[in-house]
Amino acid sequence: MSSQAPIWVFTELVRSLIYVRKRTLEWREVPDAVLEADTDVLVRPFAVARCDLDVAFLRHDLGRPMRLGHAARVLDRRVLTDLGRRPFTGPFPFGHECVAEVVRTGGEVRSVTPGDAVIVPFQISCGRCTACSQGLTAACGTDRRTPISMYGLGTATGGWGGTMSDLLRVPHADHMLVRVPEGVDPVALASASDNIPDGWRSVAAPLARFPGAPVLVLGGRARSVGLYAAASALALGAERVDYLDSSRERLSIAAALGATPLTRIGRPGWPRPGSTARYPIVVDASGERGALRHALRSLTPGGVCTSVAPYFESGTRLPLWTMYVNQASFVTGLANARAELPAVLDAVTAGRLRPELVTGVVADWSDAPRALLDPTTKVVVRRARAHTR
Ligand SMILES: [Zn+2]
Ligand SMILES: [Zn+2]
Repeated sequence: MSSQAPIWVFTELVRSLIYVRKRTLEWREVPDAVLEADTDVLVRPFAVARCDLDVAFLRHDLGRPMRLGHAARVLDRRVLTDLGRRPFTGPFPFGHECVAEVVRTGGEVRSVTPGDAVIVPFQISCGRCTACSQGLTAACGTDRRTPISMYGLGTATGGWGGTMSDLLRVPHADHMLVRVPEGVDPVALASASDNIPDGWRSVAAPLARFPGAPVLVLGGRARSVGLYAAASALALGAERVDYLDSSRERLSIAAALGATPLTRIGRPGWPRPGSTARYPIVVDASGERGALRHALRSLTPGGVCTSVAPYFESGTRLPLWTMYVNQASFVTGLANARAELPAVLDAVTAGRLRPELVTGVVADWSDAPRALLDPTTKVVVRRARAHTR
């Protein structure tokens, strides 16, 4: 099955970092990942970023409140259908963002060879089905075991393993894997699997519709995605990005990115009293209903609001009358991470997008169980590459 003899001999145990419960991550020995198809590749992650979604279940045990919320109909009825009966409940292999090095390739793999540094998109996609051919790689219909198909959330999203592992299997590798561009620090791209392209997509299509337009970003629960959105908007030529948040750390990162930081005061999601600024493009990264309504009311006629934050509650309200009169568009949904990656990497390679400015902590791999709990906006853990060229 493999096109070459194994070049890899592990003298250590193959381990994965396992999410057990809130604030508890443990290294555990796991079965060796193996090539299951000629189109598979095995990779060894060496720079892993914490996704904004990870923060929620690292801080809180979400399974029980979500089941109670489902029973009380506070939670959208589809959440447990889409994420399983016990969502975010350990143990499961942690992590779904990474840059990795190729270890072994299946016999039909042509695009990468052992030792290559690659970005592993967090969603499983084939590159050939109808959804993939439309750029909807989040909705790939091939190998779909669960409604959401991704690394890092256990069997609820297909049991594909976690990126905090010594070995990870990547299916459809010629399509999935994207090489780290020459001259770019791989650690800067640790979040290119998910959060960076998520921020990018929230402004790229709207700025194609309104070139150079000013952008408003409402920061919050999608803590790094909002900042990547601000950075992406500036990289794509927005004349100005106003970044509204209550986190001092994120406001200072936004300023370092070149955005105008606006401190959120008073009622959650609402800006300074008297602010009447309007924007053709607004990004909701807050995850708060009040802020979402503010985002939609901040649009100029015909404007586009993209929400990158999931709303799990049942019946989240939108100001539809205001939107109707204002001809507003509302966009939400999972990012199509793989489809967005080429444009993101072009901007990074050209120096227009600097995702490393969002990273607050770069920790050693062995410190991951503690470092991944750090309160900063974005944590990356890294280790030396095993295969040097
Ligand atoms: Zn994620
Ligand atoms: Zn597909």
